[in-house]
Amino acid sequence: MDEIRIDNLKIFAHHGVFEHENINGQNFFVNAVLYTDTEKAGTFDELECSVDYSSVCKLIYQIMTQNTFKLIEKAAQKTALEILKNFSLLKSVDIEIRKPEAPIEMQFESVSVKIHREWHTAIIALGSNIGNSRKYIENAVEQIENSEYIKDVKVSDLILTKPYGYTEQDDFLNGALICNTVLSPNGLLDLMHSIENRANRIREIHWGPRTLDLDLIFYDDAVIDTPDLTVPHIDMHNRAFVLQPVHQIAPYYRHPVLNLTVSQILERLKQHD
Ligand code: ADP
Ligand code: MG
Repeated sequence: MDEIRIDNLKIFAHHGVFEHENINGQNFFVNAVLYTDTEKAGTFDELECSVDYSSVCKLIYQIMTQNTFKLIEKAAQKTALEILKNFSLLKSVDIEIRKPEAPIEMQFESVSVKIHREWHTAIIALGSNIGNSRKYIENAVEQIENSEYIKDVKVSDLILTKPYGYTEQDDFLNGALICNTVLSPNGLLDLMHSIENRANRIREIHWGPRTLDLDLIFYDDAVIDTPDLTVPHIDMHNRAFVLQPVHQIAPYYRHPVLNLTVSQILERLKQHD
């Protein structure tokens, strides 16, 4: 990926853990690397084809001066997020914030934080079989759409399905969504859990009735096996109620372990039924 670089943008701001830093302020230096394809700009020589670095500098200045954060970690993340949200041609960004006047009683050149943030693609399965299921799912979608860490949400139709595993329960309403997110897989799982908890979900029977179930199906082409999180979702290839809605929004998404598209997995499942 091509890079547009901004080096050592000097900004007087008030971030810091100490009160005197918040009152008196000090100089910060910001480095940004904007990852974008510059081929079109290189061919047509038009600013609309590229990312306007002077607008990016103005945005960085605004965020750094209109907020007072304790940590440069927070300042860096907020800056990265706002740049990614405001410049749609950007896929990812590095932000480094240096603080050469940090209150340390020793000789040093500067302290700094450098972060990388990028848009990832995630597919989330939606399910509910207690109460007003449509409302629970619509509320969940709304919260996902409203998250500052998520953009471009596309939702499938919701379908009624028979329960799976534990069958002595009401039918389910199922769907799926695809979105872009700057959250890590675990950050996204935390967000999904907090939305589930707000829907009064009580974890009782495994595979049992629930007001809201949000499962992470795919995250880019990541393969994750940790105690808290398995991606791609461990059983998605056996579940028509997951595959059908996912097929509607992302038929060509490729399962990174099975090396089959959603369309092929669904076809295979139908043949084995
Ligand atoms: P299920 O969805 O299988 O009925 P739960 O929704 O109760 O089960 O999830 C139980 C746990 O599964 C969660 O606390 C979560 O940590 C873990 N988990 C592992 N992989 C995933 C995933 N891909 N999506 C959602 N949860 C997952
Ligand atoms: Mg779940």
